[in-house]
Amino acid sequence: MHPVHTLIYYALNHALIYPLDKDYVFNRLTHLLEINGLKPPEEVPYPKTPPIDEILKPLLDHAVNIGKINPDTTIQRDLFESQLMDILTPRPSELTTRFYNLHKINPKAATNDYYALSQATNYIKMTRIAKNEAYTVPSTYGDIEITINLSKPEKDPKDIANMKNTGDYPSCLLCKEYVGFYGNPAQPPRTNHRIIPISLNNEPFYLQYSPYVYYNEHAIVLHEKHIPMEVKEHTFKRLLDFIDLFPHYFMGSNAGLPIVGGSILHHEHYQGGHAHFPIEDAKILDTLHLKDVTYEILHWPLSTVRLKSKHKQSLIRHAEHLRQTWENYTNQKLNIIAHTKTPHNAITPIARKDKQTYILDIALRNNRTNDDYPDGIFHPHPDKYHIKKENIGLIEVMGLAILPGRLKEDFEHIEAILKNERKTFNNSAMYKDWITYLKTLQYSIPIKEMLRLEAGKVFIAVLEDCGVFKQNEAGLNAFKTFIKNTLNTLEANYD
Ligand SMILES: [Zn+2]
Repeated sequence: MHPVHTLIYYALNHALIYPLDKDYVFNRLTHLLEINGLKPPEEVPYPKTPPIDEILKPLLDHAVNIGKINPDTTIQRDLFESQLMDILTPRPSELTTRFYNLHKINPKAATNDYYALSQATNYIKMTRIAKNEAYTVPSTYGDIEITINLSKPEKDPKDIANMKNTGDYPSCLLCKEYVGFYGNPAQPPRTNHRIIPISLNNEPFYLQYSPYVYYNEHAIVLHEKHIPMEVKEHTFKRLLDFIDLFPHYFMGSNAGLPIVGGSILHHEHYQGGHAHFPIEDAKILDTLHLKDVTYEILHWPLSTVRLKSKHKQSLIRHAEHLRQTWENYTNQKLNIIAHTKTPHNAITPIARKDKQTYILDIALRNNRTNDDYPDGIFHPHPDKYHIKKENIGLIEVMGLAILPGRLKEDFEHIEAILKNERKTFNNSAMYKDWITYLKTLQYSIPIKEMLRLEAGKVFIAVLEDCGVFKQNEAGLNAFKTFIKNTLNTLEANYD
Protein backbone atom coordinates (compact mmCIF):
# COMPACT_ATOMS: atom_id res chain seq x y z
CA MET A 1 0.00 0.00 0.00
CA HIS A 2 1.24 3.50 -0.76
CA PRO A 3 2.30 5.23 2.48
CA VAL A 4 0.01 8.20 1.70
CA HIS A 5 -2.92 5.76 1.70
CA THR A 6 -1.71 4.15 4.91
CA LEU A 7 -1.46 7.60 6.51
CA ILE A 8 -5.03 8.46 5.51
CA TYR A 9 -6.36 5.15 6.86
CA TYR A 10 -4.40 5.85 10.05
CA ALA A 11 -6.06 9.26 10.37
CA LEU A 12 -9.51 7.70 9.83
CA ASN A 13 -8.80 4.91 12.33
CA HIS A 14 -7.74 7.47 14.96
CA ALA A 15 -10.65 9.87 14.39
CA LEU A 16 -8.32 12.64 13.24
CA ILE A 17 -10.44 12.96 10.09
CA TYR A 18 -13.83 11.65 8.97
CA PRO A 19 -14.91 10.02 5.66
CA LEU A 20 -15.97 13.38 4.20
CA ASP A 21 -12.41 14.68 4.66
CA LYS A 22 -10.71 11.79 2.85
CA ASP A 23 -10.36 13.12 -0.72
CA TYR A 24 -9.63 16.63 0.58
CA VAL A 25 -6.69 15.54 2.75
CA PHE A 26 -5.46 13.22 -0.02
CA ASN A 27 -5.16 16.18 -2.41
CA ARG A 28 -3.39 18.32 0.17
CA LEU A 29 -0.95 15.56 1.21
CA THR A 30 -0.01 14.62 -2.37
CA HIS A 31 0.50 18.30 -3.25
CA LEU A 32 2.77 18.89 -0.27
CA LEU A 33 4.72 15.70 -1.03
CA GLU A 34 4.74 16.37 -4.81
CA ILE A 35 3.34 12.91 -5.55
CA ASN A 36 1.57 12.44 -8.90
CA GLY A 37 -0.38 9.59 -10.47
CA LEU A 38 -1.97 8.35 -7.26
CA LYS A 39 -5.71 8.25 -6.48
CA PRO A 40 -7.44 8.55 -3.07
CA PRO A 41 -7.74 5.33 -1.02
CA GLU A 42 -11.11 3.53 -1.31
CA GLU A 43 -10.95 0.44 0.93
CA VAL A 44 -13.85 -0.10 3.35
CA PRO A 45 -13.63 -1.18 6.11
CA TYR A 46 -10.37 0.67 6.62
CA PRO A 47 -7.38 -1.62 6.92
CA LYS A 48 -5.49 -1.79 10.22
CA THR A 49 -2.56 0.61 10.30
CA PRO A 50 0.91 0.44 11.87
CA PRO A 51 2.29 2.96 14.43
CA ILE A 52 2.67 6.51 13.11
CA ASP A 53 6.48 6.54 12.95
CA GLU A 54 6.49 3.51 10.64
CA ILE A 55 4.04 5.25 8.31
CA LEU A 56 5.90 8.56 8.33
CA LYS A 57 9.41 7.20 7.74
CA PRO A 58 9.10 6.52 3.97
CA LEU A 59 7.22 9.81 3.48
CA LEU A 60 9.92 11.80 5.25
CA ASP A 61 12.62 9.93 3.30
CA HIS A 62 10.76 10.89 0.13
CA ALA A 63 10.66 14.55 1.26
CA VAL A 64 14.44 14.40 1.80
CA ASN A 65 14.91 12.96 -1.71
CA ILE A 66 12.91 15.74 -3.38
CA GLY A 67 14.72 18.41 -1.33
CA LYS A 68 11.75 19.45 0.83
CA ILE A 69 13.69 18.48 3.95
CA ASN A 70 17.11 20.08 3.82
CA PRO A 71 19.45 19.59 5.56
CA ASP A 72 18.43 16.10 6.66
CA THR A 73 18.42 16.56 10.45
CA THR A 74 15.97 15.38 13.12
CA ILE A 75 14.79 18.96 13.65
CA GLN A 76 14.17 19.56 9.93
CA ARG A 77 12.33 16.23 9.70
CA ASP A 78 10.22 17.22 12.73
CA LEU A 79 9.33 20.55 11.10
CA PHE A 80 8.15 18.89 7.90
CA GLU A 81 6.37 16.08 9.73
CA SER A 82 4.44 18.57 11.83
CA GLN A 83 3.24 20.29 8.62
CA LEU A 84 2.24 16.92 7.15
CA MET A 85 0.31 15.90 10.26
CA ASP A 86 -1.38 19.30 10.46
CA ILE A 87 -3.29 18.37 7.30
CA LEU A 88 -4.82 15.51 9.31
CA THR A 89 -5.46 17.50 12.51
CA PRO A 90 -8.83 19.19 13.16
CA ARG A 91 -8.84 22.99 13.07
CA PRO A 92 -8.80 24.71 16.50
CA SER A 93 -12.51 25.59 16.37
CA GLU A 94 -13.54 22.05 15.33
CA LEU A 95 -11.48 20.51 18.09
CA THR A 96 -12.83 22.95 20.69
CA THR A 97 -16.43 22.05 19.77
CA ARG A 98 -15.57 18.36 19.94
CA PHE A 99 -13.87 18.85 23.33
CA TYR A 100 -16.79 20.70 24.93
CA ASN A 101 -19.41 18.33 23.51
CA LEU A 102 -17.61 15.56 25.37
CA HIS A 103 -16.95 17.71 28.46
CA LYS A 104 -20.70 18.28 28.86
CA ILE A 105 -21.14 14.53 29.23
CA ASN A 106 -17.96 13.76 31.16
CA PRO A 107 -14.80 15.87 31.69
CA LYS A 108 -12.67 12.74 31.62
CA ALA A 109 -13.99 11.76 28.19
CA ALA A 110 -12.99 15.20 26.89
CA THR A 111 -9.41 15.02 28.17
CA ASN A 112 -9.08 11.36 27.09
CA ASP A 113 -10.08 12.28 23.55
CA TYR A 114 -7.85 15.37 23.38
CA TYR A 115 -4.87 13.48 24.82
CA ALA A 116 -5.36 10.55 22.42
CA LEU A 117 -5.55 13.02 19.54
CA SER A 118 -2.38 14.83 20.66
CA GLN A 119 -0.57 11.48 20.48
CA ALA A 120 -2.20 10.30 17.25
CA THR A 121 -1.05 13.49 15.45
CA ASN A 122 2.47 12.75 16.75
CA TYR A 123 2.50 16.18 18.42
CA ILE A 124 3.37 14.04 21.46
CA LYS A 125 5.98 11.62 20.15
CA MET A 126 5.36 8.57 22.31
CA THR A 127 8.16 6.52 20.72
CA ARG A 128 10.68 9.17 21.83
CA ILE A 129 9.15 9.46 25.27
CA ALA A 130 9.41 5.69 25.65
CA LYS A 131 13.20 6.18 25.54
CA ASN A 132 13.09 8.06 28.86
CA GLU A 133 14.36 5.93 31.71
CA ALA A 134 12.16 5.82 34.79
CA TYR A 135 12.72 4.15 38.13
CA THR A 136 12.00 4.70 41.83
CA VAL A 137 14.33 5.14 44.77
CA PRO A 138 13.21 4.37 48.33
CA SER A 139 13.76 7.07 50.95
CA THR A 140 12.59 8.18 54.37
CA TYR A 141 10.03 10.31 52.47
CA GLY A 142 8.64 7.32 50.55
CA ASP A 143 9.50 6.15 47.03
CA ILE A 144 10.84 9.03 44.95
CA GLU A 145 10.40 8.79 41.17
CA ILE A 146 13.28 9.46 38.82
CA THR A 147 13.16 10.10 35.06
CA ILE A 148 16.20 10.51 32.85
CA ASN A 149 14.90 12.70 30.09
CA LEU A 150 16.00 11.46 26.66
CA SER A 151 13.06 12.59 24.54
CA LYS A 152 14.01 16.14 23.55
CA PRO A 153 15.84 16.07 20.22
CA GLU A 154 19.35 17.48 20.41
CA LYS A 155 20.32 20.15 17.94
CA ASP A 156 22.58 19.09 15.09
CA PRO A 157 25.44 21.53 14.25
CA LYS A 158 23.69 21.91 10.87
CA ASP A 159 20.60 23.17 12.67
CA ILE A 160 22.65 25.63 14.68
CA ALA A 161 24.16 26.93 11.45
CA ASN A 162 20.59 27.35 10.18
CA MET A 163 19.40 29.33 13.19
CA LYS A 164 18.50 32.77 12.05
CA ASN A 165 17.11 35.75 13.81
CA THR A 166 13.54 34.62 14.34
CA GLY A 167 12.17 37.94 15.51
CA ASP A 168 9.85 38.22 18.47
CA TYR A 169 6.87 36.27 17.16
CA PRO A 170 5.46 34.36 18.96
CA SER A 171 6.85 36.01 22.10
CA CYS A 172 7.43 32.64 23.76
CA LEU A 173 6.68 28.93 23.55
CA LEU A 174 3.64 29.36 25.80
CA CYS A 175 1.94 32.05 23.71
CA LYS A 176 -1.41 31.10 22.22
CA GLU A 177 -0.12 32.28 18.83
CA TYR A 178 2.12 29.22 18.74
CA VAL A 179 -0.86 27.17 17.55
CA GLY A 180 -0.10 26.11 13.96
CA PHE A 181 3.28 27.90 13.94
CA TYR A 182 5.69 26.26 11.48
CA GLY A 183 8.83 26.70 13.60
CA ASN A 184 12.52 26.67 12.67
CA PRO A 185 15.70 25.29 14.24
CA ALA A 186 15.36 27.78 17.11
CA GLN A 187 11.60 27.44 17.64
CA PRO A 188 10.13 23.91 17.70
CA PRO A 189 7.49 22.93 15.15
CA ARG A 190 3.89 23.37 16.23
CA THR A 191 1.93 23.21 12.96
CA ASN A 192 -0.10 20.29 14.35
CA HIS A 193 -0.37 21.85 17.82
CA ARG A 194 -3.85 22.62 19.18
CA ILE A 195 -5.03 24.42 22.32
CA ILE A 196 -8.45 24.51 24.00
CA PRO A 197 -9.83 27.76 25.48
CA ILE A 198 -10.90 27.53 29.14
CA SER A 199 -12.16 30.11 31.61
CA LEU A 200 -10.61 30.21 35.09
CA ASN A 201 -11.63 32.85 37.63
CA ASN A 202 -13.51 34.43 34.69
CA GLU A 203 -10.20 35.00 32.92
CA PRO A 204 -9.15 33.62 29.51
CA PHE A 205 -6.76 30.65 29.53
CA TYR A 206 -5.90 27.77 27.21
CA LEU A 207 -5.29 24.10 27.90
CA GLN A 208 -2.66 22.10 26.03
CA TYR A 209 -0.51 19.02 26.56
CA SER A 210 3.25 19.14 26.95
CA PRO A 211 4.89 17.46 23.95
CA TYR A 212 7.48 16.02 26.36
CA VAL A 213 5.00 14.37 28.81
CA TYR A 214 7.05 13.95 31.99
CA TYR A 215 4.06 12.06 33.48
CA ASN A 216 0.64 10.86 32.34
CA GLU A 217 -1.45 13.52 30.57
CA HIS A 218 1.08 16.26 31.36
CA ALA A 219 -1.06 19.34 30.78
CA ILE A 220 -0.19 23.02 30.62
CA VAL A 221 -2.58 25.91 31.17
CA LEU A 222 -1.47 29.20 29.70
CA HIS A 223 -2.81 32.72 30.01
CA GLU A 224 -4.20 34.30 26.87
CA LYS A 225 -1.70 37.15 27.22
CA HIS A 226 2.09 37.10 27.41
CA ILE A 227 2.18 38.39 31.00
CA PRO A 228 4.63 37.39 33.77
CA MET A 229 4.00 34.70 36.39
CA GLU A 230 2.53 36.15 39.55
CA VAL A 231 1.41 33.95 42.43
CA LYS A 232 -1.27 35.66 44.51
CA GLU A 233 -4.91 35.18 45.48
CA HIS A 234 -6.01 34.82 41.86
CA THR A 235 -3.67 31.81 41.53
CA PHE A 236 -5.69 29.82 44.10
CA LYS A 237 -8.95 30.84 42.45
CA ARG A 238 -7.72 29.74 39.03
CA LEU A 239 -6.24 26.44 40.25
CA LEU A 240 -9.39 25.51 42.15
CA ASP A 241 -11.60 26.52 39.21
CA PHE A 242 -9.49 24.23 37.05
CA ILE A 243 -9.98 21.21 39.28
CA ASP A 244 -13.71 21.92 39.36
CA LEU A 245 -13.69 21.72 35.55
CA PHE A 246 -11.41 18.66 35.53
CA PRO A 247 -11.76 16.89 38.89
CA HIS A 248 -9.55 14.00 37.77
CA TYR A 249 -6.57 16.32 37.18
CA PHE A 250 -4.23 18.14 39.52
CA MET A 251 -3.01 21.65 38.65
CA GLY A 252 -0.14 23.61 40.19
CA SER A 253 1.83 26.78 39.76
CA ASN A 254 5.53 27.34 39.90
CA ALA A 255 6.73 30.06 42.24
CA GLY A 256 6.80 33.50 40.70
CA LEU A 257 10.44 34.28 41.54
CA PRO A 258 13.66 33.30 39.75
CA ILE A 259 15.77 30.40 41.13
CA VAL A 260 12.76 28.79 42.85
CA GLY A 261 10.40 29.18 39.88
CA GLY A 262 10.12 27.21 36.68
CA SER A 263 12.08 27.82 33.50
CA ILE A 264 9.51 30.22 32.04
CA LEU A 265 8.69 33.19 34.28
CA HIS A 266 7.59 35.64 31.60
CA HIS A 267 4.34 33.89 30.66
CA GLU A 268 1.68 33.10 33.27
CA HIS A 269 1.08 29.36 33.16
CA TYR A 270 0.33 26.29 35.25
CA GLN A 271 1.10 22.60 34.98
CA GLY A 272 -1.08 19.65 35.82
CA GLY A 273 -2.33 16.35 34.56
CA HIS A 274 -3.61 12.93 35.42
CA ALA A 275 -0.98 11.38 37.65
CA HIS A 276 -0.23 10.36 41.19
CA PHE A 277 2.93 11.80 42.77
CA PRO A 278 5.08 10.68 45.72
CA ILE A 279 4.17 13.78 47.77
CA GLU A 280 0.57 12.53 47.94
CA ASP A 281 1.76 9.60 50.06
CA ALA A 282 3.97 11.67 52.37
CA LYS A 283 3.60 11.03 56.09
CA ILE A 284 1.81 13.69 58.10
CA LEU A 285 3.78 15.12 61.00
CA ASP A 286 1.13 17.35 62.49
CA THR A 287 -2.51 18.27 61.91
CA LEU A 288 -4.17 21.56 62.84
CA HIS A 289 -7.67 22.89 62.28
CA LEU A 290 -9.17 26.32 61.89
CA LYS A 291 -12.85 26.74 61.00
CA ASP A 292 -13.56 24.42 58.06
CA VAL A 293 -9.93 24.07 56.91
CA THR A 294 -7.47 21.35 57.95
CA TYR A 295 -3.73 21.96 57.87
CA GLU A 296 -1.27 19.07 57.59
CA ILE A 297 2.47 19.50 57.96
CA LEU A 298 4.16 16.93 55.75
CA HIS A 299 7.27 14.86 56.26
CA TRP A 300 8.74 16.03 52.99
CA PRO A 301 12.14 17.46 51.99
CA LEU A 302 10.55 20.70 50.76
CA SER A 303 8.64 22.44 53.54
CA THR A 304 5.07 21.70 52.56
CA VAL A 305 1.76 22.31 54.29
CA ARG A 306 -1.41 20.67 52.98
CA LEU A 307 -4.67 22.62 53.27
CA LYS A 308 -7.92 20.70 52.90
CA SER A 309 -11.51 21.86 52.86
CA LYS A 310 -14.86 21.12 51.29
CA HIS A 311 -15.38 24.87 51.02
CA LYS A 312 -13.59 26.51 48.16
CA GLN A 313 -13.93 30.11 49.40
CA SER A 314 -12.57 29.22 52.85
CA LEU A 315 -9.65 27.39 51.31
CA ILE A 316 -8.80 30.39 49.11
CA ARG A 317 -8.96 32.72 52.12
CA HIS A 318 -6.74 30.48 54.24
CA ALA A 319 -4.24 29.86 51.44
CA GLU A 320 -3.98 33.57 50.67
CA HIS A 321 -3.38 34.36 54.34
CA LEU A 322 -0.68 31.69 54.48
CA ARG A 323 0.95 33.10 51.34
CA GLN A 324 1.02 36.65 52.69
CA THR A 325 2.29 35.52 56.08
CA TRP A 326 5.03 33.46 54.47
CA GLU A 327 6.08 36.27 52.16
CA ASN A 328 6.86 38.37 55.24
CA TYR A 329 8.42 35.64 57.37
CA THR A 330 12.03 35.98 58.45
CA ASN A 331 14.05 33.61 60.63
CA GLN A 332 17.69 34.71 60.72
CA LYS A 333 18.80 31.53 62.54
CA LEU A 334 17.52 29.40 59.70
CA ASN A 335 18.85 31.76 57.04
CA ILE A 336 15.32 32.61 55.88
CA ILE A 337 15.14 36.31 55.07
CA ALA A 338 11.96 37.58 53.45
CA HIS A 339 13.31 40.77 51.89
CA THR A 340 16.64 42.34 51.06
CA LYS A 341 16.53 44.69 48.06
CA THR A 342 13.99 42.31 46.54
CA PRO A 343 11.44 39.86 47.97
CA HIS A 344 12.73 36.30 48.49
CA ASN A 345 9.86 34.26 49.89
CA ALA A 346 7.52 32.53 47.48
CA ILE A 347 5.28 29.48 47.30
CA THR A 348 4.69 26.57 44.94
CA PRO A 349 0.96 25.71 45.22
CA ILE A 350 -0.54 22.49 43.83
CA ALA A 351 -4.29 21.81 43.80
CA ARG A 352 -6.26 18.61 43.45
CA LYS A 353 -9.60 17.21 44.48
CA ASP A 354 -10.57 14.10 46.39
CA LYS A 355 -14.31 13.59 45.89
CA GLN A 356 -15.76 16.83 47.35
CA THR A 357 -12.62 17.90 49.22
CA TYR A 358 -10.30 20.52 47.75
CA ILE A 359 -6.64 19.93 48.55
CA LEU A 360 -3.86 22.50 48.24
CA ASP A 361 -0.25 21.53 48.82
CA ILE A 362 1.77 24.67 49.46
CA ALA A 363 5.55 24.36 49.38
CA LEU A 364 7.37 27.28 51.02
CA ARG A 365 10.29 28.61 48.99
CA ASN A 366 13.04 31.22 49.34
CA ASN A 367 15.32 32.36 46.53
CA ARG A 368 17.97 34.34 48.42
CA THR A 369 21.63 33.91 47.50
CA ASN A 370 24.74 34.60 49.61
CA ASP A 371 28.51 34.27 49.28
CA ASP A 372 28.42 30.59 50.25
CA TYR A 373 25.62 29.82 47.79
CA PRO A 374 25.68 32.32 44.93
CA ASP A 375 23.17 30.20 42.96
CA GLY A 376 20.72 29.99 45.84
CA ILE A 377 20.72 28.97 49.50
CA PHE A 378 17.57 26.85 49.02
CA HIS A 379 18.54 25.58 45.59
CA PRO A 380 20.55 22.49 44.57
CA HIS A 381 23.98 22.94 46.14
CA PRO A 382 27.08 22.74 43.91
CA ASP A 383 28.18 19.36 45.34
CA LYS A 384 25.13 17.88 43.56
CA TYR A 385 25.40 19.68 40.21
CA HIS A 386 26.66 16.52 38.52
CA ILE A 387 23.13 15.15 38.93
CA LYS A 388 20.96 18.27 39.01
CA LYS A 389 21.70 21.97 38.79
CA GLU A 390 18.49 23.38 37.31
CA ASN A 391 15.67 25.02 39.27
CA ILE A 392 13.44 22.73 41.29
CA GLY A 393 9.98 23.38 39.90
CA LEU A 394 6.61 22.02 40.88
CA ILE A 395 6.99 18.58 39.28
CA GLU A 396 10.13 17.92 41.28
CA VAL A 397 8.58 19.45 44.39
CA MET A 398 6.04 16.61 44.11
CA GLY A 399 8.82 14.01 44.08
CA LEU A 400 9.38 13.31 40.39
CA ALA A 401 12.95 14.05 39.30
CA ILE A 402 13.57 15.12 35.71
CA LEU A 403 17.26 14.44 35.27
CA PRO A 404 19.36 15.49 32.26
CA GLY A 405 19.75 13.08 29.32
CA ARG A 406 23.56 13.26 29.52
CA LEU A 407 23.40 10.96 32.57
CA LYS A 408 22.54 7.90 30.48
CA GLU A 409 25.79 7.99 28.55
CA ASP A 410 27.83 9.35 31.44
CA PHE A 411 26.70 6.45 33.64
CA GLU A 412 28.13 4.02 31.08
CA HIS A 413 31.48 5.82 31.22
CA ILE A 414 31.40 5.91 35.02
CA GLU A 415 30.65 2.19 35.07
CA ALA A 416 33.73 1.62 32.92
CA ILE A 417 35.82 3.73 35.32
CA LEU A 418 34.53 1.78 38.34
CA LYS A 419 35.51 -1.43 36.54
CA ASN A 420 38.95 0.07 35.86
CA GLU A 421 38.34 -0.16 32.11
CA ARG A 422 39.09 3.52 31.58
CA LYS A 423 40.27 6.54 33.57
CA THR A 424 38.40 9.57 32.22
CA PHE A 425 35.81 10.73 29.67
CA ASN A 426 34.60 14.09 28.31
CA ASN A 427 32.47 15.03 31.30
CA SER A 428 34.39 13.15 33.98
CA ALA A 429 35.68 16.26 35.79
CA MET A 430 32.23 17.10 37.14
CA TYR A 431 31.81 13.57 38.55
CA LYS A 432 35.26 13.40 40.16
CA ASP A 433 34.19 13.55 43.83
CA TRP A 434 31.19 11.34 43.21
CA ILE A 435 33.33 8.67 41.53
CA THR A 436 35.75 8.74 44.49
CA TYR A 437 32.79 8.22 46.80
CA LEU A 438 31.27 5.48 44.62
CA LYS A 439 34.57 3.57 44.73
CA THR A 440 34.21 3.26 48.51
CA LEU A 441 30.83 1.51 48.26
CA GLN A 442 30.17 -2.20 48.53
CA TYR A 443 27.16 -3.23 46.48
CA SER A 444 25.54 -6.58 45.76
CA ILE A 445 23.55 -5.23 42.80
CA PRO A 446 24.90 -4.58 39.29
CA ILE A 447 26.89 -1.31 38.93
CA LYS A 448 24.32 0.04 36.47
CA GLU A 449 21.56 -0.25 39.09
CA MET A 450 23.82 1.05 41.84
CA LEU A 451 24.51 4.23 39.82
CA ARG A 452 20.81 4.86 39.32
CA LEU A 453 20.13 4.34 43.01
CA GLU A 454 22.99 6.63 44.07
CA ALA A 455 21.86 9.32 41.60
CA GLY A 456 18.40 9.07 43.16
CA LYS A 457 19.90 9.62 46.61
CA VAL A 458 21.66 12.73 45.32
CA PHE A 459 18.35 14.00 43.94
CA ILE A 460 16.67 13.49 47.33
CA ALA A 461 19.50 15.50 48.92
CA VAL A 462 18.86 18.18 46.27
CA LEU A 463 15.24 18.40 47.44
CA GLU A 464 16.50 18.72 51.01
CA ASP A 465 18.75 21.61 49.92
CA CYS A 466 15.58 23.35 48.72
CA GLY A 467 13.67 22.91 51.99
CA VAL A 468 13.46 26.16 53.98
CA PHE A 469 12.64 24.43 57.26
CA LYS A 470 14.99 21.44 57.43
CA GLN A 471 13.57 18.12 58.59
CA ASN A 472 15.47 18.26 61.89
CA GLU A 473 14.40 19.38 65.35
CA ALA A 474 15.19 23.08 64.90
CA GLY A 475 13.65 23.20 61.45
CA LEU A 476 10.48 21.33 62.33
CA ASN A 477 9.90 23.32 65.50
CA ALA A 478 10.18 26.56 63.55
CA PHE A 479 7.91 25.17 60.83
CA LYS A 480 5.22 24.20 63.33
CA THR A 481 5.49 27.54 65.12
CA PHE A 482 5.17 29.37 61.81
CA ILE A 483 2.00 27.44 60.92
CA LYS A 484 0.50 27.91 64.41
CA ASN A 485 1.14 31.65 64.28
CA THR A 486 -0.37 31.82 60.81
CA LEU A 487 -3.55 30.20 62.10
CA ASN A 488 -3.63 32.48 65.13
CA THR A 489 -3.40 35.67 63.12
CA LEU A 490 -6.08 34.45 60.73
CA GLU A 491 -8.36 33.46 63.59
CA ALA A 492 -7.94 36.89 65.21
CA ASN A 493 -9.27 38.47 62.00
CA TYR A 494 -12.11 36.04 61.28
CA ASP A 495 -15.55 37.67 61.13
ZN1 LIG B 1 4.27 34.01 25.86
